[in-house]
Amino acid sequence: MHRPIDIEALCAAKGLRITDQRRVIARVLGESDDHPDVEALHERASAIDPGISIATVYRTVRLFEEAGILERHEFGDGRSRYEAAAEAHHDHLIDVETGKIIEFVDPELEALQKMIAEKLGFRLVDHRMELYGVALDRKG
Ligand SMILES: [Zn+2]
Repeated sequence: MHRPIDIEALCAAKGLRITDQRRVIARVLGESDDHPDVEALHERASAIDPGISIATVYRTVRLFEEAGILERHEFGDGRSRYEAAAEAHHDHLIDVETGKIIEFVDPELEALQKMIAEKLGFRLVDHRMELYGVALDRKG
């Protein structure tokens, strides 16, 4: 489902100035498919360039988010997690025991949400759906 996203090209398209450190962070973000938080991003980016501080990662993800390049999620644990906004639309199921995040798309659910909005007199332009669950087959 996931393919690397060229965040650097998106930055260029939005007219964002790209520094070497931002380029590394952009590349790490584009290659991540697990909704990393700032700490995980910092770990990955500083493995490539040890000079990258966590403060730089914070500033960079905020900049990318404000530019509409990244989407921020909070999956119930109070931590901000990021993924490229260019990802095809999908919703998330969060395993509350392991924190694992599963992506899904359900056409019936999409249609239902559109219908609900219309019933309430709205044209749906966006939505967020997060399901929180415990695996049925988990032992012990
Ligand atoms: Zn996702």
